[in-house]
Amino acid sequence: MERDYYKILGVSKDASPDEIKAAYRKLARKHHPDMNPDNKGEAEEKFKEISEAYDALIDPQKKAAYDRFGPEGVSQRYGPGGFDTGDFVRMHQTDLGDLFSEIFGGGFGDLFGGGSIFDEFFGGGTTRTRGRYIIRGRDIKVRILLTLKEIYSGVEKTIRVRRNERCKVCDGKGGKGLKSCPVCNGQGRIRQTQRTVFGQFSNISTCPNCGGTGRVIEEPCFSCNGTGVIKKTATIKVKIPPGVQNGNYLSLRNQGNAGEHGGPAGDLIVVIEEKPDPVFTRRGDNIYVRAPIQYPVAVLGGKIKVKTLSGDVILKIPPGTQSTQMFKLRGRGMPSLGGYGRGDQLVEVYIDVPKHPSKETKEVIEKLSKVL
Ligand SMILES: [Zn+2]
Ligand SMILES: [Zn+2]
Repeated sequence: MERDYYKILGVSKDASPDEIKAAYRKLARKHHPDMNPDNKGEAEEKFKEISEAYDALIDPQKKAAYDRFGPEGVSQRYGPGGFDTGDFVRMHQTDLGDLFSEIFGGGFGDLFGGGSIFDEFFGGGTTRTRGRYIIRGRDIKVRILLTLKEIYSGVEKTIRVRRNERCKVCDGKGGKGLKSCPVCNGQGRIRQTQRTVFGQFSNISTCPNCGGTGRVIEEPCFSCNGTGVIKKTATIKVKIPPGVQNGNYLSLRNQGNAGEHGGPAGDLIVVIEEKPDPVFTRRGDNIYVRAPIQYPVAVLGGKIKVKTLSGDVILKIPPGTQSTQMFKLRGRGMPSLGGYGRGDQLVEVYIDVPKHPSKETKEVIEKLSKVL
């Protein structure tokens, strides 16, 4: 067994805990026995090796001991006697729990039918439910880019998603008939011996091949290879209500990936993204615009045309208006999500100064400068 923990995880000696964690998660996902059904034995060895390295490096004290004394330093200081098994178990449950949620899209309980596999793996749990080998489908997250005008009026969008759908050939069951699982001899659990720097652990764990049922499908479906799901591109219409904001999301129940072996489907999560607008700026339900006014209008008063999300409106400018003065167009902002009221539009005016005035304009301005 490779004993250079840094090499095992592929991190440098000064790697931060986050880097160590990221490296570990990546490798654990790659080498987890469940993810390597064709090469289980080797994957298990590798997985243990990675776990051992991670255990030693993630804890600052153990890391320091390892840096100083090598693997022996870690087992000496934290070996049987000085080592708190509780921590070890908790640590793994948390980390691997997260990991599994990522791989299988949550539904840890669904997958193994009750108690977490790690309760058994580490000897923590005593009760075990015979599980159904079903997996909840993963949620799918899509972003949808909307203009302010679309958000203003509400819009129906058509999106395409690549997702797992229930196999029609086997109706999601994955095949026909059941036989005793060859991996666990129909027991649903397997004994595993894990050697770690903390000693040797012997554990009973749920059989990953049958998910603890002790049975596997006898004739796997040819169409879905026994998974019960098939990848397809679906076209889905999504109705977006008026007034949504950047980061709001809609959850479309059961529109995500279908679950394997007839498991429940995940959700389709549509995340709203607001497209920046060249004219309008949104703050909450209020809309801000800047509008130019001519000098004579500022002095004498007048009317200007202002763009709003619902079309142009006429804004009255009183005499003596100053640059950067704000005007409010009440109720011309965004509708509030949920339908109660609307924001306002705020118009900031500025004096439009000609960059290249005509000869005539220049003459008039010169005359004006004499009387001011
Ligand atoms: Zn099928
Ligand atoms: Zn089995």
